[in-house]
Amino acid sequence: MSKILAIGEVLVEIVATERGNGFREPVPLIGPFPSGAPAIFIDQVGKLGQDCAIISRVGDDDFGHVNLDRLKRDGVDISGIEIVPQGTTGSAFVRYREDGSRAFVFNIRHSACGTIELSPDALGLIDTCTHLHVMGSALYAPSIVTSILTAVKRIKGRGGTVSFDPNIRPEILDSPGMRDALKTVLAQTDLFLPSGAELMLFTEARTEEAAVAELLATGIRAIVVKRGASGASYFDPETSLTLPGFKVEEVDPTGAGDCFGATFVTFWLAGSDPREALAYANASGARAVTMVGPMEGASTRAELDALIASQRS
Ligand code: ATP
Ligand code: MG
Repeated sequence: MSKILAIGEVLVEIVATERGNGFREPVPLIGPFPSGAPAIFIDQVGKLGQDCAIISRVGDDDFGHVNLDRLKRDGVDISGIEIVPQGTTGSAFVRYREDGSRAFVFNIRHSACGTIELSPDALGLIDTCTHLHVMGSALYAPSIVTSILTAVKRIKGRGGTVSFDPNIRPEILDSPGMRDALKTVLAQTDLFLPSGAELMLFTEARTEEAAVAELLATGIRAIVVKRGASGASYFDPETSLTLPGFKVEEVDPTGAGDCFGATFVTFWLAGSDPREALAYANASGARAVTMVGPMEGASTRAELDALIASQRS
């Protein structure tokens, strides 16, 4: 049986209920919602009934318990989340602008999850896992980069696999060491899950077709490109496949990519063919955007089946 591991930020997200420009005046807020890209990813994996775990840190505060309770309820092994006695759980405040772009205020680097390191117990947990999913957004502190690279080495060394979602804003890409860390992960990646233009973050090629060929030639086994409301595409050396998105009302796009990735990885590891894995992943991303709060739209298998059945032509 496979067991999927994620490492990285566990946060709460607090969302402005009115659109506008950032937080320089009082605005009505709703939250705390459990969040953090690796946490959203692993929660969606757990909801599908797949064995999974996360390594992170939270404070012994309500924001930490919001996450611990949700992840545990949804079937995630939370033994790798350390509760830091004097620590504070990370947070993100987000407000949507009129044009749909997002303004953030983050407390991540200086929060409990900014201090992630691998304890002997965490190393033991890594050795029970067969697959590691890496989020580029998690490479925000040197000790986490080290932790993730250690997990990549141990899991690959035992014949396991790695998936990688660069999930990165260009402004962060040029922080010290970031690009090198991403390239090191990419070189060990079996399944690459960029969104749109992230496909070309690391290629010489400047067209999508050439970038796919260039990446597959490095030994990546499969590539899935996320395309928001338009759906997604799958590529491996023999297959090239695009499926449209499901028609839903988007109320909060945060977390779609994470739920999509979690569902694709779960089906891929279970041996599903690419078309089935892509259809379920599209359904998972679509359901994610229909709910306020990044983790609120994570789905069970039955919920995905219902959406797929409702839009079958
Ligand atoms: P994130 O903001 O979570 O990082 P992302 O950029 O990684 O998102 P997107 O391409 O925005 O990922 O969304 C991932 C997937 O979710 C899409 O490929 C699609 O399947 C689904 N999806 C996203 N938005 C919509 C939408 N408005 N309608 C239907 N499906 C959607
Ligand atoms: Mg993303």
